[in-house]
Amino acid sequence: MRLGDLPPNFATYICSHLAAGERSVERVWLELDGDLWMCCGEEDDDFTDGEAWKIVGLKHLLASDPSIPTLLDLPAGFQLSREAKVWTVSPLIFRST
Ligand SMILES: [Zn+2]
Repeated sequence: MRLGDLPPNFATYICSHLAAGERSVERVWLELDGDLWMCCGEEDDDFTDGEAWKIVGLKHLLASDPSIPTLLDLPAGFQLSREAKVWTVSPLIFRST
C-alpha cells in the first residue's frame, strides 16, 4: 500500500497536536486492520485516550506537508518514521499495556 494510492478522503486518525496544527507529521502507521494513523511522535501523544485522536481525510494531511512520502510502500503492520528529514519504513512494535 502506498499513501498515494489511497482515496483523498481516506479516514486517518491523527493526534491532537496534528489536529491543532501545532506540530508536523513525524510518524505514519498502518495497522493490521487497515486503519491509518499519523502522529507527531512526541512523548505526550496519548495512546490510552481515544478522545485525544481525531479523524480527518488523508488529503488534508498530505496537503499540509508535501514531504510525507506518498510513494513508499507501507504494508499493514508497518510504519513510516522521520529521523533527520529521512523517512524510513519499519515494522510496527506492538506494546502491551
Ligand atoms: Zn502528537
